[in-house]
Amino acid sequence: MNIFESEHKKLKNTIMAEFRFKALEEVLNRKPVEVAREDNLTSDYYAMYVFDRPKMKKYLSREAYKAVVDAIENGTTIDRKMADQVAQGMKSWAMENGATHYTHWFHPLTDGTAEKHDAFIELSSDGSVVEAFSGKLLAQQEPDASSFPSGGIRQTFEARGYTAWDPSSPAFINGTTLTIPTIFISYTGEALDNKTPLLRAIHKVDKAATDIAQYFDKNVSSVRTNLGWEQEYFLIDEALFMARPDLVLTGRTLMGHSSSKDQQLDDHYFSSIPSRATAYMIDLENEAYKLGIPLKTRHNEVAPNQFEFAPIFEEANLANDHNQMLMDLMKKVARRHKFRVLFHEKPFAGINGSGKHNNWSLTTNTGVNLYSPGKNPKSNLQFLTFVINTLKAVYDNQDLLRASILTAANSHRLGANEAPPSILSVFLGTEVSKMLDLMEEAVVDRKMTPDEKTALKLNIGRIPEIILDSTDRNRTSPFAFTGNRFEFRAVGSSANNAPAMIVLNAIMAKQLIEFKASVDAIIEKGIKKDEAIFQVLKDLIINSKPIRFNGDGYSEEWVKEAAKRGLTNIKSVPESLSAYLRDENKKLFDELGIFNESELEGRVEVEYEKFIMKIQIEARVLGDLATNHIVPTAVQYQTVLLENVKNIKEVFSAEEFEELAAARKDLIREIGGHITAIKAKVKEMIEERKKANVIENTVEKAEAYDKKVRPYLDDVRSHIDKLELIVDNELWPLPKYRELLFVR
Ligand code: ADP
Ligand code: MG
Repeated sequence: MNIFESEHKKLKNTIMAEFRFKALEEVLNRKPVEVAREDNLTSDYYAMYVFDRPKMKKYLSREAYKAVVDAIENGTTIDRKMADQVAQGMKSWAMENGATHYTHWFHPLTDGTAEKHDAFIELSSDGSVVEAFSGKLLAQQEPDASSFPSGGIRQTFEARGYTAWDPSSPAFINGTTLTIPTIFISYTGEALDNKTPLLRAIHKVDKAATDIAQYFDKNVSSVRTNLGWEQEYFLIDEALFMARPDLVLTGRTLMGHSSSKDQQLDDHYFSSIPSRATAYMIDLENEAYKLGIPLKTRHNEVAPNQFEFAPIFEEANLANDHNQMLMDLMKKVARRHKFRVLFHEKPFAGINGSGKHNNWSLTTNTGVNLYSPGKNPKSNLQFLTFVINTLKAVYDNQDLLRASILTAANSHRLGANEAPPSILSVFLGTEVSKMLDLMEEAVVDRKMTPDEKTALKLNIGRIPEIILDSTDRNRTSPFAFTGNRFEFRAVGSSANNAPAMIVLNAIMAKQLIEFKASVDAIIEKGIKKDEAIFQVLKDLIINSKPIRFNGDGYSEEWVKEAAKRGLTNIKSVPESLSAYLRDENKKLFDELGIFNESELEGRVEVEYEKFIMKIQIEARVLGDLATNHIVPTAVQYQTVLLENVKNIKEVFSAEEFEELAAARKDLIREIGGHITAIKAKVKEMIEERKKANVIENTVEKAEAYDKKVRPYLDDVRSHIDKLELIVDNELWPLPKYRELLFVR
């Protein structure tokens, strides 16, 4: 045994490196968890833990049932007497299904949901307990609001907050707890959550879209917002996950050299699902179905160990509740399968990150999808009206839409050549684009050529039949028309859908209100309705033209072209967030009754704070790991090399030594260079953090974190990743990318 080997043997037992190898061994010994197959058909047990309409019918009086349905369909309030009846029915059903507790479940402004369980029990005068639940407890509760973020809305002397029942999303049983979806507001009525403004925005777009739909069909009395989310995620083995403190604490790898092979061969997308992952998915689906979450699609995504779930679309508020429930369930079920789910938008550098495409559409109570091209010219004029107004809304509010989705985590994904660019544009496909071009060219007073006439099939209002080519897709567009809906693809995988849906529905409502005013003004001048609509649409087409882009959103040319068109391209989170606070946007939300000024400011404050915290935590974790994992490992290996050089010198002649030791000496220098750089950069990073921490103004502080601290994350990392390539594999403490992504 030479000195190198003996040193090596001693060092190999370094606890950290051993942790990595043990984790790998554990993974190699895993078997897929046996998931019992459900004996019944999915339809037999679907929604068994949901207090849905069939169950309400069974457990409620006719009167109480009607009150709830009325509340769901028409937004009427449920009085206390009725609420008492509903509470009794709910309790009976819940207890028959094993529930012992109840909770008000809400979406605070954190990344997740909140619940506090209370037992049904109450003490009787003789000291025994009875199970009780009342309309009062169902309708409203008062959790201590002071520990939830509010961005300064909620003064400490007004710490009270209320949760209030949202009957439009049915109660469900989670484990042994009857769970009641609620909104969360402050004592003074300001929204402290994601659901309240979402409901407000949905209500606004309902009203505005109904008014427009009535131009075409007087029977329309309401319009529903639909959301179908596609949830991307990574599954990482628990043992490997636990051996990566950066994954545990920040949800992403702050270091790690790319694997020589990752997704270059496109061999993961839609490929056969690995068996442990399949078992996980089946287990998860069984549970999701019982909670009434209509999961439809599962598949492998582009990156190794990356997957996707998509449900059948639903009403947006319910769909969003279901997304939050599913994310929670995904984490829980993963534990049974010795997996951890990563929802982070960019857990691994250099390969695809995860998003949550928001498929969005509007349907009338008469069953018409307003984004479906119709079979006749009249319904096509309606279709075009909604498409063109959407274009204008997106064009006018690019910055707001971006602000709704750009977070510290999602900023790694946007513009990273595998995800939507940080420039907003709309893809319409060739057919719809052609239509708009024809409408734009159709001059009201000019006689059209026979060709133009044929092309437009001028039945009424110059609106031709539209035949969509379903293969006309564009994966590089952040906002794409996909045949009967728009797909907002820039939403982050870890995000609550609400901010994106609030902004989208708000800007759409505003646009439709303006559209109606313009059309009505023309009608008043004695112009026919269809003609008036056509005229306004023509203007909108012209005025929103720069937002239309059917080409490659990832290309360099597009960045240049977009700049020429005056489209904004913002990558910085603090800069993007500032869009919310522009006067015109404050006015927009205030006039629609979605956010008053203080609610909006509070919310944006929370976002700035989140951004600061995320960068701060990442900087701390990276600093720690660099100092106490990486540098010591590098030093150890350097020592081995130094010993080796000394030994060579002892054994060989001076001449031979020079030749033999040259490469080793270079390596020692190289390692030394990285160690020095890491130490210096970490120190600088800490200094910048200290400077940023004393800044009082949140916006300025966020900017300091963005511009001064954040660059060090990449900088320090680059040295670590180079060390990873040269340090002895057996000493390296953290599971490598090739292991995290391929050992399963
Ligand atoms: P793709 O990956 O091709 O976009 P997926 O099947 O993964 O398609 O997901 C499409 C999502 O869009 C599903 O959640 C689906 O229910 C939803 N969706 C389909 N039609 C509509 C619609 N009209 N409105 C809203 N969402 C829709
Ligand atoms: Mg899609």
